[in-house]
Amino acid sequence: MVYFDNAATTPLPKAVADAMYEVLTAHFGNPSSQYPIGVEMKKAVEGWRAVIAGALGCPAERLYFTSCGTESDNWAIQAALWQNRHRGRHIITTAVEHSAVLEPCKLLAQQGYEVTYLKPGQDGNVTAEQVADALREDTALVSVMLVNNETGCVFPAADIAALLRKKGSPALLHCDAVQGFLKVPCDPEGWGVDLMSLSGHKVGGPKGVGALYIGPRVRNPRPLLPGGGQERGARSGTEATAQIAGFAKAVELRLADYDAKLAHMAGLKAYCREKLLAMGGVVPVGEGTAPHILAVSLVGYPSANIVTDLGAQGICISAGSACHQGKASHVVSALGLDKKTAAGVIRISFSPDNTREDVDVLCQALLAHRDSRFPML
Ligand code: PLP
Repeated sequence: MVYFDNAATTPLPKAVADAMYEVLTAHFGNPSSQYPIGVEMKKAVEGWRAVIAGALGCPAERLYFTSCGTESDNWAIQAALWQNRHRGRHIITTAVEHSAVLEPCKLLAQQGYEVTYLKPGQDGNVTAEQVADALREDTALVSVMLVNNETGCVFPAADIAALLRKKGSPALLHCDAVQGFLKVPCDPEGWGVDLMSLSGHKVGGPKGVGALYIGPRVRNPRPLLPGGGQERGARSGTEATAQIAGFAKAVELRLADYDAKLAHMAGLKAYCREKLLAMGGVVPVGEGTAPHILAVSLVGYPSANIVTDLGAQGICISAGSACHQGKASHVVSALGLDKKTAAGVIRISFSPDNTREDVDVLCQALLAHRDSRFPML
């Protein structure tokens, strides 16, 4: 198999599976239990929290474990709106967020919140100036992702945080960093981002675990799951110890030779981009600078057919976010592309394990696909 869909999910290294197996079998204690196997697990969870917090450059006590990136996004939104409930009901976000942000915003709109959706330019980027223009006295939350999952565009979280400070706005800033963590600089404390979402399975960890950074401006975060008081009372539910252990192990693995891994992915992306554009009739989509996501269009060749055809040959790419499953992508729509370009958008996403030979196989298969089909009229 040639796997180029690492923005959808990543393969799990054996060392991660081993770390999880060890916890599932030998160290199955509940961290809330008072006897040694519980106490040991509590200590272990705090150790794993410290590993992930270290990678994010924040104190461990500011990082809360969740069940996925989607939960982190939902919790962040609710916590921010709760804190600012007496200030206003206006939300600023972008038209190209993941559905884990857009869907909660849709529901909130039905409950009387007003949502401003910032549209990216043709390059796929959103600017802090757009946020400045949309900011109001009653803005309670600004939610802007760090890296767009379909285009790889890196949004200016630091500039937006600085802008909110400069304006003295009480609006809290949430940043969905599910695609950005361990791919681009990610510094919620240094930037002044209030809430930042992470997910384990995008960085070589297991599915079913995420984390939320909650900064000092968020006072007494409203629990998404009230209950037995785990995660300092902010997110109840017995800790998913094996998942958390796997997440931390994956982070440790990614951090080893980190710069070389990023350079490797960026090099593959550049190589792949160059090869594809040289085919003719292939255009870049957005100016994404994240090292692991490349979006291009095989103009006039429907992406669903490309994905199925390549899939049958054991080559995995995506027609956009895996969460959209065949529906027209809202990200592609927001870019304002013409019909034929929009139809042909594919996403190729890299991991440190991909090779140039993999890229050659992919490009050959895309060429063969095009040679065997008629373009749409
Ligand atoms: N946010 C972004 C930008 C994503 O790409 C994804 C997953 O694709 C999510 C959130 C959701 O993360 P999870 O699959 O852990 O719920």
